[in-house]
Amino acid sequence: MDSPSSTLGATIDDIRRQNLAQVLRLVHRDGPLSRAEITRATGLNRSTVGGLVTDLSQRGLVEENPATAVRKVGRPSPSVTASDQAAAIAVNPEIDAIDVALVGLSGRVLHRVRYRNERTPTVGEFVNVVSAIIEGMRPAFGDAAVLGIGVALPGLVREADGSVILAPHLGWREAAVGQLVEEATGMRVVVGNDANCGVVAESTFGAGRGDGVIIYLNGGASGIGGGIVINGRLVTGEGGNAGEFGHTAVSTRGSRCHCGATGCLETEVRRDRFVEAAGLGDVDPEAVLDAMAVEWLDRTGDGGLEIDRQVSRLAVALRSIVNIFNPRTVILGGHLAHLLAVVGEDEIHRRIAPTLPGGGSEPEIVGARLDDELLLIGAAELVFAQALGDPTVMPSRAVASAFAR
Ligand SMILES: [Zn+2]
Repeated sequence: MDSPSSTLGATIDDIRRQNLAQVLRLVHRDGPLSRAEITRATGLNRSTVGGLVTDLSQRGLVEENPATAVRKVGRPSPSVTASDQAAAIAVNPEIDAIDVALVGLSGRVLHRVRYRNERTPTVGEFVNVVSAIIEGMRPAFGDAAVLGIGVALPGLVREADGSVILAPHLGWREAAVGQLVEEATGMRVVVGNDANCGVVAESTFGAGRGDGVIIYLNGGASGIGGGIVINGRLVTGEGGNAGEFGHTAVSTRGSRCHCGATGCLETEVRRDRFVEAAGLGDVDPEAVLDAMAVEWLDRTGDGGLEIDRQVSRLAVALRSIVNIFNPRTVILGGHLAHLLAVVGEDEIHRRIAPTLPGGGSEPEIVGARLDDELLLIGAAELVFAQALGDPTVMPSRAVASAFAR
């Protein structure tokens, strides 16, 4: 057998499933790739790869596109990409809006609807809005097989049953969100913490691709969430709460947090204060950032002082995080990415210091690359995880047509 993951006792079917999954995951994350590139990356032999690509294509999970560019050596080679004929619905409830999107297996957002909340929605209102939007979206599905609904939720989630333990900013507590959405839509539903969705999306398609320790912190309307990915695996912790960096202590005299502690990162580095500091309201974000950078350099006005204070508090949290995880990359999203854009990476490093000496192991600190589609792409990944782990859950069209399913 040519699979490095084959083990004693594994059946031919098991090995084929593992090989299909290996190729699909590779193409999903790194595609488009030629068959030769897949052969090199997997260590499988060429004819095996050919058979696996054909199988995945018959399941509607990959597409082979005719060569578009002539390579320097040899014939042009068709490229294999993850197919958007397999898609997921991604949902992200926030206090000010509910986003619903159709996301293809390639990671592209194919269609998106944003519903603005007049007030923070109850669980029941959320379920009604989501099922109505999905109903209205059905024409956009086209021929795509929709594998399920992924919900990126700003709160603590019980992974096993998709229920919410506590979403403090939405005011939801012990709510069977996954089950309710499933009943309303008739589709499979997977619920995950929003920041975990963010770090999965960034480590799959964005700034954190590749191995190593990736740390993600996101500043949103609901405070600061975080996530940890180590060598491609999400670290969720015993109860699913790992990476709650918003509750890192950054001040002994700060304000009281909803968690009961004092001086948490998310009570000290708040998006609303940052937006207020800009004093520019809802105008062009680039212009806002430029104006904030100028004011920060001056640092005599209220806005400049507030930015200065937030950067210092953020750096206190990052110092702990860097010393604990020794990460390769720290990704900042939401308003934390704006803070980074205003003051620059060097300034953040300067304020984090000193960390333990490690000779060249200083992490890169970067802004999230997937911007406002990040959580939706990550929510879709929750759904895709099943097919990425075992592509045979998708029926092969070559077989399915014979049974006229
Ligand atoms: Zn707290």
